[in-house]
Amino acid sequence: MAVPKRKVSKARRDKRRSSVWKLDLPGMTKCPKCGEYTLSHRVCKACGTYNGKEIIAQDA
Ligand SMILES: [Zn+2]
Repeated sequence: MAVPKRKVSKARRDKRRSSVWKLDLPGMTKCPKCGEYTLSHRVCKACGTYNGKEIIAQDA
């Protein structure tokens, strides 16, 4: 929304730009198996699976 520059306080403007809104990092997805946040197109570090297959053997 276009609002005159001076009408938006510094706090309001800076809060809008701050990271408080950006809870998810770009390129982060939830692992379908364990629900951990992982980098997309990478093997999940928590459970060692990628695309539903176990890539890294887990110590039980
Ligand atoms: Zn996982």
